[in-house]
Amino acid sequence: MKDPKKEMNRREFLRRLGFGTASAMAMMAMEPLEVFSRDKETSQKPADIRMTYRVQHGSGEQISLLGFGMMRLPDSQEEVNQLVDFAINHGVNYFDTSPMYKGGRNETQTGEALKRHPRDKWFVATKMSNYDQRYWTIDGAKSMYENSFKALQVDHIDYYLMHGIGQNGMKDFNPRFINNGLLDFLLKERDAGRIRHLGFSYHGNVEVFDWLLDHNDKYHWDFAQIQMNYVDWRHASLKRGWNKDADAEYLYNKLDKLGIQCVIMEPLRGGALGRLPDELSNQLKAVRPDDSMARWAFRWVGSRPNVLTTLSGMNNADHLKENVLTFSPLETCTEAENMLLANIADQMAGFPTIPCTTCRYCMPCPYGVDIPGNFAYYNEAVHNHILPLPEKDAADYKERLQAFNDGLIKALPDEKTWAHSCMDCEECLSKCPQQIRIPNQLARIVETLRG
Ligand code: SF4
Ligand code: SF4
Repeated sequence: MKDPKKEMNRREFLRRLGFGTASAMAMMAMEPLEVFSRDKETSQKPADIRMTYRVQHGSGEQISLLGFGMMRLPDSQEEVNQLVDFAINHGVNYFDTSPMYKGGRNETQTGEALKRHPRDKWFVATKMSNYDQRYWTIDGAKSMYENSFKALQVDHIDYYLMHGIGQNGMKDFNPRFINNGLLDFLLKERDAGRIRHLGFSYHGNVEVFDWLLDHNDKYHWDFAQIQMNYVDWRHASLKRGWNKDADAEYLYNKLDKLGIQCVIMEPLRGGALGRLPDELSNQLKAVRPDDSMARWAFRWVGSRPNVLTTLSGMNNADHLKENVLTFSPLETCTEAENMLLANIADQMAGFPTIPCTTCRYCMPCPYGVDIPGNFAYYNEAVHNHILPLPEKDAADYKERLQAFNDGLIKALPDEKTWAHSCMDCEECLSKCPQQIRIPNQLARIVETLRG
């Protein structure tokens, strides 16, 4: 259920943007969302904003329930500018980046695009992405932190996160943030107002998550970013086989009890929920024939009241436009729809896919393996019912094994990029935010190919 107190009144939003009642009414009368076009000036004019907003508890800020994940921006700054213009003109005001996206260029691209809009029209989130041990010293970490201000061209950061919390458990968390005094430094920066809200993005090993929340009286987290979608709600731990991972239901409920709002990543579970196998999508189509699978997944996430914003990596105008439509305004799921999605999730849990989000943090592999390419192909084969292979004496065994081999050649024409090039050097292991045991999963693919 929507909490009307937490949803922003549209007129109020327009007033805060500096539009009086007359101009607000004029804007409301304008034609609805227009198709993004590089040839038209439409991205420059205010649109009929119908976006759903959530109120950030501490500051009262109105945050768009659709957040812009900047990770996969196009290379062209002009295209980035146009995407950002379109997003802002249609009410999106939360932009999430990191110093580690695109080798550091992502923050610069984000800053360039955002600075062309008044500072009070957007909120920027970035991160302490000190995965590399060079940044485990306080000086190294501070240089990454200060560089974010320069790259983004801002004097304060609205939402700052400790990135990738939980990877390698307390073993990495302590030297990254505690022993070097970095968390104390970030708390002081929050007190000084250079950081407006301090939080963390959680990427597995619930021991660290629990530790942070158990110390909430000391740290007063303003928000937390978690992976949540209708499959990971109850099947995250089951699917990944991590020792200490937790389902999104546990994470969300624990944050909710403490009044810490959630920023959601992976609402589409690495894109998998955007294209379901026919037998699953048909069940959803029977209820809402015109809705995309992505729209179902976003509506499910946005229906949880403790969600502050839902990040979507939108690297082209079509995705952006479709997502803006979904959230303008967001139509919350009914109880029956929630039950249907829970049932779909149970069915999906039987599909042995690899939870790769194609973020490419693990790349490049020194031996040339296209890690996300292999995983994407494997998952595709699952969706197409080629995998899992039947028993060897089954009538269609040979045919499906051949289909899997043929499909791989089509998907990855260069043999050097295949799973079998993996030398098990483990260089990629610590880089994967999904904590996928990459060499093991690649070995599983090689075994499948051998039949
Ligand atoms: S473990 Fe395999 S896939 Fe990972 S970096 Fe080494 S060779 Fe590449
Ligand atoms: S294997 Fe992990 S790091 Fe590599 S692309 Fe997939 S999710 Fe990202």
